[in-house]
Amino acid sequence: MLAQRLVRQLCPHCKEKYLKTREELSSIPDFPLESWEKSVTLYHPRGCMRCSNTGYRGRVGVYELLFISENIQRLALQKASTKDIKKVAVAEGMITLREDGLDKAKQGITSLEEVMRVIL
Ligand SMILES: [Zn+2]
Repeated sequence: MLAQRLVRQLCPHCKEKYLKTREELSSIPDFPLESWEKSVTLYHPRGCMRCSNTGYRGRVGVYELLFISENIQRLALQKASTKDIKKVAVAEGMITLREDGLDKAKQGITSLEEVMRVIL
């Protein structure tokens, strides 16, 4: 099972570094704070000649990949809710769209704003 969203990729020529603290992130509802350090370096789009002043160039996929384990199969057979299945999947190490998106923001591939716009 695979879900995918496209987010805009930051222009590597003009993206701007900034520091985001946990406190600032805590205002975002349902933010998975536990997986974040005290403060994180993220990037803002700025805009230059190479990206027609948009701050973005191209798109990149954000993925959710669910490995169908025996537990998941059993739940599916029992007609468990999607929510319950997802809970088990996350416990078994599934990377959610949100996690993959935030990871790509941490890597400077896209911006937090873009991840929130498309996924959160
Ligand atoms: Zn640019």
